[in-house]
Amino acid sequence: MDFEKEFRIKPSESVSLKKRETKTKGPFEDKADAVAATEKNIATIQELQYRMYVEAKQSLLIVLQAPDAAGKDGVIRKVLGKMNPQGCRTYPFKVPSSVELAHDFLWRIHSCTPARGKVAIFNRSHYEDVLVVRVQNLVPESVWRPRYEIINDFERNLAANGTRILKFYLHISPEEQLERFRKRLENPAKHWKLNPGDYEARNQWDDVRRAYEDAFERCSTKYAPWYVIPADHKWFRDAAISSIVAKTLSEMDPKFPPVDVDLDEIRRLYDLAKDAQKI
Ligand code: AMP
Ligand code: MG
Repeated sequence: MDFEKEFRIKPSESVSLKKRETKTKGPFEDKADAVAATEKNIATIQELQYRMYVEAKQSLLIVLQAPDAAGKDGVIRKVLGKMNPQGCRTYPFKVPSSVELAHDFLWRIHSCTPARGKVAIFNRSHYEDVLVVRVQNLVPESVWRPRYEIINDFERNLAANGTRILKFYLHISPEEQLERFRKRLENPAKHWKLNPGDYEARNQWDDVRRAYEDAFERCSTKYAPWYVIPADHKWFRDAAISSIVAKTLSEMDPKFPPVDVDLDEIRRLYDLAKDAQKI
């Protein structure tokens, strides 16, 4: 299965999240099968990320958006977090501070975009400014409406400067979400995640869904595609995302830079050092 093709939203494609599956096994027999595929993808990602870091010419930005309990933290812990922290960083975007609110909505985002050679993972992102902000009427429509184009321009600028952009939406059903809320309630180690606002968002599910659909339709571009990933099965979600990241890094084809030292000279210095050590 070509996950990249299967789950990518084409530019201007109209999206109905209700019609898109949340629970699929894809090509996998079972969980173990998917976990094995994920492990392989992670090995590929690690190798290519290392090369990209050394090459220091291109960068990768991964955006994660999802309803509560859909698994953003899980994807980071189990898949993306396996990258070398020397070249990879996660940025969570929370309710903006007063300083952040005193600036344009991209101000806090731009300073977190990846430098050449680096990977940045956004746990939530500038898309909150056309999602929660829109659903909760935090600013008037005359303010959020123009943001789709502003976001496209921003992402095009990043792409033109060597940043590949992947945007993942973790698509879970309301039933699966409620089941995960139940498990959180029963597990004291997960009580820190509980938040009454999560239930409020459930009551606004249709509005949230429409806001997401608009964002996908307007902001899935050739240079910064959105992927809607079925996420009811955590193992499928991890396999699909790891596959798309591995494929993207392969296409970016980072290369070790050409050797610019005189290898014969280095060998001569090595032999000298070795001889000196014998004395
Ligand atoms: P969590 O990711 O569960 O820790 O929650 C972070 C919260 O910050 C979520 O409820 C988001 O909707 C909220 N948030 C993130 N960005 C924004 C934003 N630009 N404006 C308002 N709320 C935001
Ligand atoms: Mg939360």
